[in-house]
This record gives sequence, C-alpha cells and structure tokens, in this order.
Amino acid sequence: MSLGNYITSLGDNPYFGAGFGLFGIGAGAAVLRKGLQYAVIYFRRQYMITLEVPCRDKSYQWLLQWITYKGARKTQHLSVETSFEQHQTGHIKTKYDFIPSVGSHYFRYNGTWIKVDRTREQHTLDLHMGIPWETVTLTSLGKNKQLFFNILEEARQMALTKTEGKTVMYTAMGADWKQFGHPKKKRPLSSVVLDCDLSERILSDVKDFLGSASWYGERGIPYRRGYLLYGPPGCGKSSFITALAGELNFGICVLNLSERGLTDDRLNHLLSVAPQNTIILLEDIDSAFVSREESKQVAAAYEGLNRVTFSGLLNCLDGVASTEARILFMTTNYLERLDPALIRPGRVDLKEFIGFCSEHQIQQMFAKFYKTGDPETGEIDDYPQKFVKEVICRGKPVSPAQLQGYFMRYKTAHPSCVIEKVDEIWD
Ligand code: ADP
Repeated sequence: MSLGNYITSLGDNPYFGAGFGLFGIGAGAAVLRKGLQYAVIYFRRQYMITLEVPCRDKSYQWLLQWITYKGARKTQHLSVETSFEQHQTGHIKTKYDFIPSVGSHYFRYNGTWIKVDRTREQHTLDLHMGIPWETVTLTSLGKNKQLFFNILEEARQMALTKTEGKTVMYTAMGADWKQFGHPKKKRPLSSVVLDCDLSERILSDVKDFLGSASWYGERGIPYRRGYLLYGPPGCGKSSFITALAGELNFGICVLNLSERGLTDDRLNHLLSVAPQNTIILLEDIDSAFVSREESKQVAAAYEGLNRVTFSGLLNCLDGVASTEARILFMTTNYLERLDPALIRPGRVDLKEFIGFCSEHQIQQMFAKFYKTGDPETGEIDDYPQKFVKEVICRGKPVSPAQLQGYFMRYKTAHPSCVIEKVDEIWD
C-alpha cells in the first residue's frame, strides 16, 4: 500500500479520527490558555498599576494603619497588634491596633477601586526583625501613579498626627532602628532647670547648626555636630536631651555601646541609617570604654563576644556623614575617664558641664513645686530664698533629682514645713 493510501485509510478509521479530534481540542485549549495568560499579562502591564511595599519599608506600618482606618474600613478580616501604653501617672493602658489580615481586601479611593493583597512568606524571615517576611501590594486600574503617592502621603500624615506633640524614641534592633514604646508627651524645656543660660546656649548652638547646611556643604565639612554633657548623675543630662528633642520636633535614637552583639560594622551601619530628624544619644559613654589601654584589656576579656572597639567607635564617629543634619549627644558622669581622642573637636564640638544645683537652680526648683506669695493680695514671701539659705548652709552638694525626690515626698506640705525638714534631702 502506498503512503497516500495508508493515510487515507487511517482517516477512515473512526478510532483514529476521534483521537485526532481530541488531540486537536486539547491543543486548541492549550493555545487559548496561553493566549489568555499573555492577554492578562498584557492587560496588567498596560492598564493596571501595582505598588508593592515590603515589611522592611518605613511606610509599611503607616500604610497598614491607613488602609484600616481610611481605606478598607469595611473589611471584616482584621488582625490585631496589642501594645501597652504607660501614662505619666504610671497607669498602663492596653491598646489594640487593627490592621488588615493576610489576604485580599478591596476599597475605593477617589473613585478608583483598589485591591490590597497582604501576603506572608512562611519560609522567609526578615532577619533584622526576626518576623515572617510580609508584603502589601496595592493594585488598581489605570496608569495614574499619583494615586499611590497620594495614598502614601496620606498614610504618612496620619502617622505624623499620631506623634504630634510627642517625642518618638528609637532603639537599635538588628541592623535597623525600631520605635521604642509609644511616643512620649514632649517634655517642655522650661521643666529642666539648668544653671543660668546653659539651656538657651545649647539650644541656640543646635539651632544655629541646623540652619547652616549650606555653610557645611560649601566647605565640604561633614554636616554633623557632636555634643558631650558631663556631670554627676541626677542633674538633668538625659532630661535635657529629651526636652531639647521635643523643642526641635526631633526623635531620639538611643544606643547602648556596651550592648553585646554591637560590632563596629553594625554601629557604623546604625549611625548611617538613623531616621531623619533624630538626635543620636550615646549614654554613659564611659561605661563602654575607659581608656585605650584598658579597652584593650576589656577587648581581650570579651574576646569571642561581639563588642564594639574603641577605634571602631572613633571611626564610626568620624564617618557619620549624611546629607541630613546629624546631631550626636554623648553623656557621661566621669569626663576624666574618657580618652582625649574621643572628645576632640570634630567628634565632640561642644562640651558642657551639668553639675549639682546652684543657688539659682535650688530657688527655681522650689518655685516649680510650691506656690509662694499670695495671689490675692499680690504679697510676695521669701520662702524660696529661705529654702536656698537652709540648703546652702548645710555645705553639701545637691542634685535636682535629690530635690525632686524630696519635694515629691512633701508635695502637699506647707513651704515652711519643707524648709524645716531640709536635712531629709540627703537621707
Ligand atoms: P542624669 O541624666 O543627669 O543622670 P536625669 O535627667 O536622668 O539625670 O534626671 C533624673 C531625674 O531628676 C528626672 O526625673 C528629672 O526630672 C530630674 N531632674 C534632674 N535634673 C533636673 C533638672 N535640672 N531640672 C529638673 N529636673 C531634673
């Protein structure tokens, strides 16, 4: 049989015909499916826009909050983030923040439908935070990127209003900074009583620095300024820095140099990625390093445990460069224990002593706690002066923290009684 006849006879075979038909349908379906896939991809590319925000991004939490409160308000699938807020009275309030749960949600924003996909990778961890890797993807029809800018900006503004009038504290977590606790109510600068014009002097120095970006730029000097506050404990170093940050609308990034696991590289990285508009605070810098000699011994003792080295710190301080103003505060109770290399100009540009109370401070502290004089008659009394005299004649130094503790013990007492029991300050 010739080949032509063989094919003709196969075509007449009903089994073969059915198989061929089925094959044809299958192939057609596959082509159609592929075509549809391409069409969907083409449609997505040409007529849809998506925005992916990974959990490492600063906007991530803001966006989730915004979606819950402004966007997908009607979504019934939420997850909760519980936190505790401690008021100044010591009262602890539990706060529940709802955020959209993992999955898809829909909402309309300025007349456009937006799909939200919150996904969580079960097998990938965010190594810095130690939490599962998450992303939020917003998808919408059209090509208008401005829509997403507007949403992100609204989310940022919403987050900012939450911290208005408050000071945000950050702590180092892995290679990044994480907000520490809830933002605290700003401490007024006037509530920290320093000697004479010390407070104004430091404030005006910082303000002057913040207004000199172009001066630094033109001269090629790194735009940073280091401050060192030293003096006995309880005299207001930390309180002043907190109040200063409040006055400037800055946050505070607190770093403990003696923390284990803080290596030179990590410190360097942290200093370079500190959030904008924050003061970096290295507290009790003397406890991390004594002097170069001793630090060698310390390094030897801690060999194997990751610690920041003295030379590493110096390099980090020299390397802190950013286009944003970088303000670095260090505090110590013992100036004499610091290596001169650490506090040379460029690393520390302004050193200020915050010491025990002067007469002026004692009087101010007293006046802050007790109303003196008669508001009705306008008559003034001399309780503050008497109190100062009593304290000074004891010949013992007194810190504002000691005075505060003493006044709190007698907060409802008559000023004359407070003067009488003055010896209890040193109990
Ligand atoms: P330091 O950092 O110098 O050890 P802190 O700022 O931690 O001192 O002060 C401890 C406590 O004493 C705080 O509660 C603070 O309110 C109070 N205090 C210390 N110094 C002052 C000051 N100069 N004016 C008002 N309060 C002060």
